[in-house]
Amino acid sequence: MQRVDAAYDVIIIGAGVVGCLTARALSRYRLRVLLLEKASDVGTGATKANTAIVHAGYDPLPGTHKARFNVRGNNMYPQLCAELNVPYSRQGDYVVALSQEDMRTLEELRERGRRNGVSGLEIVSGDQVRRTEPALTPQALGGLWAPSGGIVDPFLLTVAAAENAVTNGIKLLLETEALGFEKDGQRIVGVRTDRGTFPCQWVVNCAGLHADEVMAWAGQDGFTITPRKGEYVVFDKAKSMVKTVLFPCPTPISKGILVTLTTHGNTLIGPNAQNIENREDWAVTAQGLAEVLQGARKLVPSLEARDVIAVFAGLRPSGSTGDFLMEVHQVGATLCGRPGGFVNLAGIESPGLTAAPALAQWVVEALEDHGLELEEKREYNPLRPAPPRFSKLSRREQTALIEKDPRYGRIVCRCEMVTEGEIVRAIHAPVPARTYDALKRRTRCGTGRCQGGFDTPRVVNILARELGVSPLEVTKKGPGSELVLRGTKEGGDAL
Ligand SMILES: Cc1cc2nc3c(=O)[nH]c(=O)nc-3n(C[C@H](O)[C@H](O)[C@H](O)COP(=O)(O)OP(=O)(O)OC[C@H]3O[C@@H](n4cnc5c(N)ncnc54)[C@H](O)[C@@H]3O)c2cc1C
Repeated sequence: MQRVDAAYDVIIIGAGVVGCLTARALSRYRLRVLLLEKASDVGTGATKANTAIVHAGYDPLPGTHKARFNVRGNNMYPQLCAELNVPYSRQGDYVVALSQEDMRTLEELRERGRRNGVSGLEIVSGDQVRRTEPALTPQALGGLWAPSGGIVDPFLLTVAAAENAVTNGIKLLLETEALGFEKDGQRIVGVRTDRGTFPCQWVVNCAGLHADEVMAWAGQDGFTITPRKGEYVVFDKAKSMVKTVLFPCPTPISKGILVTLTTHGNTLIGPNAQNIENREDWAVTAQGLAEVLQGARKLVPSLEARDVIAVFAGLRPSGSTGDFLMEVHQVGATLCGRPGGFVNLAGIESPGLTAAPALAQWVVEALEDHGLELEEKREYNPLRPAPPRFSKLSRREQTALIEKDPRYGRIVCRCEMVTEGEIVRAIHAPVPARTYDALKRRTRCGTGRCQGGFDTPRVVNILARELGVSPLEVTKKGPGSELVLRGTKEGGDAL
């Protein structure tokens, strides 16, 4: 097998929120780090389709990794999102009781939260919840108030973490699939990919739904991941129904169908929970969406199907132990006589988004404890500047921006008021957006009421122009998802 590069200190497999935050945490040190991602963009696995809640930490069982890293991760969010300039709000959340039995569950959750180290938990009456959330059902008897619960934009967090890692010297390879390990006896000395083999000292498994396959390459069997599908419904911003997050009382396998605000002002409901076999089955079903709407109406009865603008499904990487699997396998001297091995993060289902910054920190500490020398870089910069968000600027700021760059005066997506300037900037960012979906996640084009009906042809032409390709080659999410079949005029390939 062809060797394609000098040795890396650490190779991370998978650029979801956990892999990207791990890469960022390692970028603080003088290390050679490679982040491998098989998709065309970062954050396209479990990270792209979830409820986007920064959980307070009263739900996981005390003593589990989930409990510990949930609360640690939650505490890290305010600083993390400020450094990376990512939309985040700590507006709090409620678990709603609809029966006397639910009221007892609230007490159990409050006690669990206390044992997990969650502060500020309080059981309040139904009327108190309704004062903040007037759309809540009159049947609500009470609620568990968690002031440290929050919401975040998971895509922007992942993109921002990856950008910050790259500007601090990490190498990111997209469209590069890890296929196995190169071994010397029992030792892993490299990662084989569809672009050649990359020698390394340590491998960190952040492969989400495929983490058990990566474990098998390291000779670790007996842990399996089952994809558990969760479907969602998004409502028009004009019909915003809640200011916080309203959870029902949890079930043994999920936190239940909830109603939440997103950081962009939409109401989002879901998810249901169904174990499936196919790790690539992201399809929604009529039955699943009906279940979601019915479940959410138990909390907010006035939700109307006609205000729905989008639906989607996410896949939880549920591990067979029910907890996060976090382990380090050190295997003595590997490359250049230094110790190396395999760090494993598997079964990172909810609250994995919340826990992600703490998991990343754990990886750094685990590597150091097992002999990786960490020397801080003087030039490390934890800050990632926010790209201008035209719709959020004042009139005066908008005018100044257009004077500097007239492309900010051309609106490409009317619903979300996204400009050509924002799109071009995202295409040429440190982690470039090279597909329609990558632009959608960064700029919000196509996420409004018309769901891309107006902007898609314009965005395709801008992508083609900026990437120097034909519009026929522009894709939705990478090779095989081309958006345009053929030109409409003979011999033409323009839209
Ligand atoms: C329905 C649902 C709701 C959720 N709600 C919440 C919530 O509200 N709050 C919360 O805290 N958590 C929530 N979660 C959990 C959270 O989304 C996940 O824990 C988190 O996104 C996992 O991130 P990750 O980076 O580990 O995995 P992923 O995002 O799946 O990333 C893994 C990456 O590895 C890549 N990869 C896999 N194999 C290879 C390979 N061989 N070579 C190269 N790349 C590879 C994949 O393409 C993928 O990009 C929810 C999850 C779901 C599905």
